[in-house]
This record gives sequence, C-alpha cells and structure tokens, in this order.
Amino acid sequence: MRKKHKRPWGVFVAIVLAAIFGTWAGKDATIFGISLYSVFDVLGTVFLNALRLVVVPLVASSIITGIARMGNESEFGRLGAKTFAFYIGTSLLAIFIGLFFVNLIQPGVGFNMADGSRPMATSDQVAAIGAKIASHDGQAIVNVLLQIVPLNIIDAFGKGQMLGIIFFCLLFGFAISKIESSTSSILQGFFQGVFQAMIRVTHVIMRFLPYGVFCLIAKVFMTTGLGSLSSVALFTLTVLIGLGTFLFIGLPLLLKFVGRVKPIRHFKAMAPALVTAFSTSSSSATLPITIDCVEKRAGVSNRICSLVVPLGTSINMSGSALYECVAAMFIAQVYGIEISFVTQFLIVLMSLVTSIGVAGIPSASLVAVLVILKVIGLPEEGIGFFIAVDRLLDMCRTTVNVFSDSCCAVLVARSEGEKGVLSKEIVSDFDA
Ligand code: ASP
Repeated sequence: MRKKHKRPWGVFVAIVLAAIFGTWAGKDATIFGISLYSVFDVLGTVFLNALRLVVVPLVASSIITGIARMGNESEFGRLGAKTFAFYIGTSLLAIFIGLFFVNLIQPGVGFNMADGSRPMATSDQVAAIGAKIASHDGQAIVNVLLQIVPLNIIDAFGKGQMLGIIFFCLLFGFAISKIESSTSSILQGFFQGVFQAMIRVTHVIMRFLPYGVFCLIAKVFMTTGLGSLSSVALFTLTVLIGLGTFLFIGLPLLLKFVGRVKPIRHFKAMAPALVTAFSTSSSSATLPITIDCVEKRAGVSNRICSLVVPLGTSINMSGSALYECVAAMFIAQVYGIEISFVTQFLIVLMSLVTSIGVAGIPSASLVAVLVILKVIGLPEEGIGFFIAVDRLLDMCRTTVNVFSDSCCAVLVARSEGEKGVLSKEIVSDFDA
C-alpha cells in the first residue's frame, strides 16, 4: 500500500500564527537578550537554503530522465510548442485581467501624494534598485537569450543558472536517447536513481515545512505590519482582486473546460507547493516541492513535468506580469499622466517581456517595474509608493506563478491523453 500524503493543515496554522506573532512582537523583540528577528532570519534562511540545495540536482535529473525516455524530436517539438503557447496565453490573460481592474478601480487617481504616512521608499532604496537595472535595462530578453547557452556548464550549475541548465539537460537527455542502448540504459538508470533520491530528500525537507514557513512569515510580519497596506490600500486591493480573479476563476476555468479535470482537486494537490511559494516568495526555491506535487500528487508523468515545470519556473510568471502591469498603470495614475491606448498596449507588451526575464526570487518584479517605467517614460521614483508593501504582494504573486506552471503541466498532460491526471485514485491517496 502506498503511503498516504499528509494534509498541509499544519502549514496553514503556521502561517496564521506567524502573522499574528510577527505583528505582535515587532522587529525589536528579544528573547534572553537575543533578537527574535535574527533568530527567525537565520532559521528561515537555513530552510530556504535546504530547498535551494535540491533545485539543481533535482531539475537536472528530472529533465534528463524525462527527455531520454522521449527520444523523439517531433514529440519534443510538440510538447515544447504547447508549453510555450500556454505560457504566453496565460500571461497575457493575467495581464489583461490586471489592466481591466486597474482601469476600473483606478487606484492611483486621487492618491494623496502629500500624505506623510504613505510608505515612500528612501532615495537609497530607489537608487539600489536602479543600480540593479543597469544590467537589465532594455536587455531583459537579451540577457535571457545569453543565459540559455552558457559558456561553461559547470559554471552554470555552480551559479544555479536555470535556463542554461535546462538547455544543457534537454540536449544531454536527447543525446542519451540516441546512443547505443546498453550505455543509454546505464545512464538512464543512474539519472533515474538521482531523481528518486532527490525526491526523497525533498520529502525530508518538507517535514520541516511548518517550522520554516513560521520563521519566514513571522520575519515578514515583524517588519511589514498589515497597517502599512492601508496607505496603498486601493493599489493592494486592485492587485489582489486581479491575482484572485486569475487564480480562482481564470485558471480553474481552463482546468475544467480545456483539461477536463476538477480544479478543486488540483488546488488540493498543489497545496504544499502553494504555501511554500507564499512563504518563501520564491518560485525557484519552491521548485522541488512543485515538481513533487505535480508528479506525485497531481499524477502528471515525469516526461511532461520535467519539461514544463522547470521551464515555467524560469519563464512563466503570470502573477508577476499582472503585478507589473498594475504597478506601471498605478504610477501613471498617481502622477496624473494620460495613458493612451498605444501606451497601454506597450505596457502590456513590456509586462509580458519583462516577466519572462524576471528571476524566481523575492522582489524580482520591482526591477522589472523600473524597466517598464523607464521605457514608457514614467517617473521612476513612483516605485517608492509601494516598495514597503512589496513583500506581502510578492507572496501572493509567487503563489500565482507556481500554480500557473502546475496548471500548464496538467493541461499539456491531458492534451497528451494522460488519463490518470487528478483522477479519483490519485487524489484519494492524499485526501483520506
Ligand atoms: N518572487 C516572484 C517569484 O519568485 C518573482 C517576482 O518578484 O515577481 O516568482
């Protein structure tokens, strides 16, 4: 009998308790003279590192095993085309949802710039982000392209450059499928073993999920109280309504009518990955748990999961794309700048392009928003209005990013005729 998966209630409780505790304790709380914030910071980082530790070997072995089994160019091309079509399609859908709500709610119109309580960033903060875009400015796509084919694969592995690793592993897996069968099966067996071992390591790390989540969330709430959201309440509301519409209506409709699966089952299957994304604000760090949930809990084959999920974590950021579009429009509204139809179109396009270049790490979208503001010619210091609340919104958009990748895996698997995906048997395995 297979082992039952546990329900992630412990993690939900950890999130709520951490939010209450963090807000109550504040940043200056101490225990036996030691700063509680530092304690949570260290423990949270240890948990994050443990997750990051697994990413490279897990992704590499997963892709190599999946592709080596495929071994057919046309099959690979077909899966790749479906994956890209889904990613572009859902990111555009997310951006248009954001654009609709930002035009409807108009959070920036009437925003009181003279209100001293608003969360303005210090000029240092804006300058620090500005410095980061020096390497991104107008180059987001060029940088992505350059990363795809790395100069040195060991260097790419060492630095965790996912696009380069994915590209190399695709080629390597493909090559394995083409060599003599006796040698090929040795290599396939080896990488299959690495993959299974890394999944077991992920399970061990997941046992600490509630504690890791508690530390990370408590840390956020110690510095960013919910009160700070009130000064940009309408902006926050617009982002949350947009993300919520995409997450709870847009994607479930696709699952139901295109994938012909029950969306609620998919939410249940992905719950551990979603809470991890929410508390880490990093889709990259969440990747091991996303792969585990998509394969073991949603029942998508390794052949499809290994291609779709790592690629999605690198280039499909639907939640971030929505956020970037709303943020740019909000700043234009705050400064009373008329946004023509053509400029809105440009913002949509820029949100799509920069979201592809955004890394799966915390606050990466802030850099992308600055790039958009620069290209459109909007005041860059406007980003200061929401820097202070970015982390809380980042938690939400990262959750959406991860769920969107997993939906793509389900839809591609269903289009390939995989019948077991989110089937009653698979779900009852962790529902009981
Ligand atoms: N934190 C997001 C992620 O990891 C990226 C962003 O800042 O939007 O998916």
